[in-house]
Amino acid sequence: MIDRERLSSVTDNVLFDEEMSKHTTFRIGGKADAFVNVENALEIEKVIHFCTDTDTPYMIMGNGSNMLVSDKGIRGVVIHIGSGMSKCRIEGDEVYAEAGILMSALAKKILEANLTGFEFAAGIPGTLGGGIYMNAGAYGGELKDIIESVTFICPDGLIKTETVDNLDLGYRHSMFMQGGYTILSCKMKLKKGNYDEIKSLMADFNARRSEKQPLSQPSAGSTFKRPEGYFAGKLIQDAGLMGCSIGGAMVSDKHAGFVVNKGGATANDVLDLIEHIQKTVKEKFGVDLEPEVRLIGEQ
Ligand SMILES: Cc1cc2nc3c(=O)[nH]c(=O)nc-3n(C[C@H](O)[C@H](O)[C@H](O)COP(=O)(O)OP(=O)(O)OC[C@H]3O[C@@H](n4cnc5c(N)ncnc54)[C@H](O)[C@@H]3O)c2cc1C
Repeated sequence: MIDRERLSSVTDNVLFDEEMSKHTTFRIGGKADAFVNVENALEIEKVIHFCTDTDTPYMIMGNGSNMLVSDKGIRGVVIHIGSGMSKCRIEGDEVYAEAGILMSALAKKILEANLTGFEFAAGIPGTLGGGIYMNAGAYGGELKDIIESVTFICPDGLIKTETVDNLDLGYRHSMFMQGGYTILSCKMKLKKGNYDEIKSLMADFNARRSEKQPLSQPSAGSTFKRPEGYFAGKLIQDAGLMGCSIGGAMVSDKHAGFVVNKGGATANDVLDLIEHIQKTVKEKFGVDLEPEVRLIGEQ
């Protein structure tokens, strides 16, 4: 049980028994015991201190665009790093940004500064912090290519800045997945470019997304990682699973790599469908599909 009174004395920005379906792009998820919309690093430190002191579990989230939160919800405190921590500063070809900024908003600022290299991320619907955690990427680019360093809180509470080589960034992988880290900000290095060319590349990537992806239905993006030598969507499509549904969860009939919430889906519906897809693809093609979506909360 959370000491609500004490947590409320640590931060004014706490909501209790908050429905997580309001905070995930899947529009799925039970209640979190406490949900804190943090505004700065000091507030994060205070909330983490409260959690360690009172033996309360906590987790960090950004825009909730790569999460499946369980129907039972999340025990403990969710620390939401969003618009309250979205400052950005551009000096020459260097970009300093806080973890809560949306990558789409950051892309606009970078465009205004005539810098190139971030176009691939303009249509990824997450925060920069969530993007770094996942090493988000698209259309041949990934954050790893442009990050110089990241500042974060370590599991022992110390604030550290590490250069990109020390972050173990790989395909949808980072050191931060070991758990207990809170990404605060990062420094990126880009190149001077031409405004019209940058803008048209972003528009081209966004048009490709609209054409291929089920953007009008709630989802968490690609459900599975790309298995080596294959494309998850193609395997799922070739297995005849396009449009297949369990409860309110459905394999998109526009892009088989996406599981969508066609209305009223529970996390269990999605999990059952994920299992069904994995089993069918394994039986037909002998390939293991690993979820890219992070499974969060009380199972
Ligand atoms: C329609 C759609 C299209 C998508 N397209 C792409 C794509 O092209 N490429 C791609 O890579 N992804 C894509 N995604 C997935 C998703 O947008 C990315 O993974 C994104 O980087 C997640 O950011 P987020 O802020 O939403 O993270 P969240 O979903 O909130 O969190 C994801 C994970 O990161 C952790 N985390 C978040 N912020 C922090 C922080 N500050 N410190 C420590 N840990 C943190 C969370 O604990 C969680 O484990 C897509 C999703 C959707 C819905």
